[in-house]
Amino acid sequence: MMGNAHLAFGTGSFLIVTSLVGHTPGIIELAAVALGSLIPDADHPKSKVGRWLPGISHFFYSFCGGHRGFTHSALLVIPMLFFAGWLMEEHNSQLGWFGSDALQGSVYGVGYLAMLAFIFGFLSHLIGDAMTTEGLRILWPLKAKLRLTPLRADSKLLNFFTWWLCIAGIGMHLYSSYQALI
Ligand SMILES: [Zn+2]
Repeated sequence: MMGNAHLAFGTGSFLIVTSLVGHTPGIIELAAVALGSLIPDADHPKSKVGRWLPGISHFFYSFCGGHRGFTHSALLVIPMLFFAGWLMEEHNSQLGWFGSDALQGSVYGVGYLAMLAFIFGFLSHLIGDAMTTEGLRILWPLKAKLRLTPLRADSKLLNFFTWWLCIAGIGMHLYSSYQALI
């Protein structure tokens, strides 16, 4: 999957899932899911994020398992979840300051939501790469490869699917906002 398809796949599926659970994501969450859906390709100097971070992408490419190495390992989700847990704890311990238990009521609560969105985007990227014929060593450095479809990374079918996912996600949120109005 290429950069724009990852962005559409991550953001689109995030919009669908949040709509299904009745949560309206804020702009910070949307930015976090978009970033998470692109960040694993920071290990490729020619990718979208790789071009934004030339020094870092060359470093990962040369020293951390090449493209689809370290930054594409689902094991990275473990420290991310610990960080999200810490943000949640901080949010809970600050309830007295903000007088509300709404997550949006504290910096840590907003950070927690953003972290969950980032993890969602990150995992969507890994699934997106595993949907291509090259497959993905999803638990890198373990060698086991996950390959979900025989489609090429630049497949028009994959692109078509991701953009429709995005349109469906936006449509679902617009529909629920409309329902809330009438
Ligand atoms: Zn990738």
